[in-house]
Amino acid sequence: MTDSNNVVWLGAPSFPDAAREALADTQLRTNLRKATGTIRDKRLAVTAELDDWEQLRTAGKALKRRTLRHLDHHLVRLEEAVTKAGGQVHWAADAAEANRIVTALVKATGQTEVVKVKSMVTQEIALNEALAEEGVSAYETDLAELIVQLGDDRPSHILVPAIHRNRAEIRDIFRREMGKWGRPAPEGLTDRPRDLAEAARLHLREKFLRAKVAVSGANFAAADTGTVGVVESEGNGRMCLTLPETLITVMGIEKVLPSFEDLEVFLQLLPRSSTGERMNPYTSMWTGTTEGDGPQDFHLVLLDNGRTATLKDTVGRQALACIRCSACLNVCPVYERTGGHAYGSVYPGPIGAVLTPQLVGVEHAESLPFASTLCGACYDACPVKINIPEVLVHLRAEVVEAKRAKGRVPTPEALVMKAAASVLSSPVKLSAVQRLAHPAARLVSRRGTIGNLPGPLGRWTRTRDTAVPPKESLRAWWRRTRGGREGSK
Ligand code: SF4
Repeated sequence: MTDSNNVVWLGAPSFPDAAREALADTQLRTNLRKATGTIRDKRLAVTAELDDWEQLRTAGKALKRRTLRHLDHHLVRLEEAVTKAGGQVHWAADAAEANRIVTALVKATGQTEVVKVKSMVTQEIALNEALAEEGVSAYETDLAELIVQLGDDRPSHILVPAIHRNRAEIRDIFRREMGKWGRPAPEGLTDRPRDLAEAARLHLREKFLRAKVAVSGANFAAADTGTVGVVESEGNGRMCLTLPETLITVMGIEKVLPSFEDLEVFLQLLPRSSTGERMNPYTSMWTGTTEGDGPQDFHLVLLDNGRTATLKDTVGRQALACIRCSACLNVCPVYERTGGHAYGSVYPGPIGAVLTPQLVGVEHAESLPFASTLCGACYDACPVKINIPEVLVHLRAEVVEAKRAKGRVPTPEALVMKAAASVLSSPVKLSAVQRLAHPAARLVSRRGTIGNLPGPLGRWTRTRDTAVPPKESLRAWWRRTRGGREGSK
């Protein structure tokens, strides 16, 4: 699709093609239904516990939107605070620059291995591949990301990247692959969650104890104190963030918050929306470096990679408020049936459908704004009230405009829409069409329903039934009865 930005996967099919293939995979659908259903129920239970949940959502939305309006100011404040606390800030305009910076920093330490945590943004820039080209091995330490890495797979969910795998598949991957990367899986490994977790723990422990360099993402960074934070459930993050001598954090510029106090809102919204927990089991925060405690060398790489361009769009920019909780994925009927791979992007589901086209340009992900039923479940679930349906519709219009600007041959659907626009914008034409609609529809209808039509409308009507228009239009009825005052028959 594009080679200037790794947000979308090179060579991935468009969403409708990939979705058709995914729908045929019954195992995948079973795995997804089970996993998203469980998280969904947990989220509903814990959010219902708080009387002020709606106020928290409103506060989160307001804080994020205000911060985005003054992002430049807060980023400069963050740089000053991190530098003052002993860290170093680097600015990366795109994926290539971020990869160059991180690779140079790792090589300067003389190390050839790094451990990683919370690294969606490093997936976005394909950091592992860039490091591998320079002879540096990057080890994922999040359990789900470890499964994806060992399986030579791609993540399919923001929070649970291996959500498409069941326990038996994970056991097979561990048995087959762990030995190639380090400590092999124990003999006779079963698919019991406890045994799988223990195998991962033993495998990762030797990496944590050996690693001198860690690469992390970040959930938030406070501009006033320079504090960077990562929340997680397994403790792998805590190991990565405290044991190595050098810590390199790669963070999208939209993650900055004006003040440390703002965390009060987001540390309530995030765990409840993401894993359905009241609080995150591990919340790690660090401010620059501290002598004799934790990494002695801290680098913060601030990544743009399409975010500034997204910011220019006053409707679309709300996608940058996303705190990556994944609640919108778990409630989306489209995601639940197709899984994340069908989106062909590091960011799947409803948020991917609005974020990806903006980060890479709609022409590089033109099927994604259409990968939704516009049912609005994502908007209801989003803890920071991102109006995803509004952005989807906005981007659909942009896709149509982009196609028109390129002078591509209009599709039958586009021609019908054009004709409809012309009719609906003229009362005279609308009346004429309404007069003709009923007799014409009767010719092609069966038992009061218009079904499969021949010709260019065939693809559309094959999957949709339409009622035959009434004999008399509302406008004609209104004229005849003066709005019902003279009785109607
Ligand atoms: S868009 Fe909202 S619901 Fe979806 S991941 Fe982002 S914050 Fe969560």
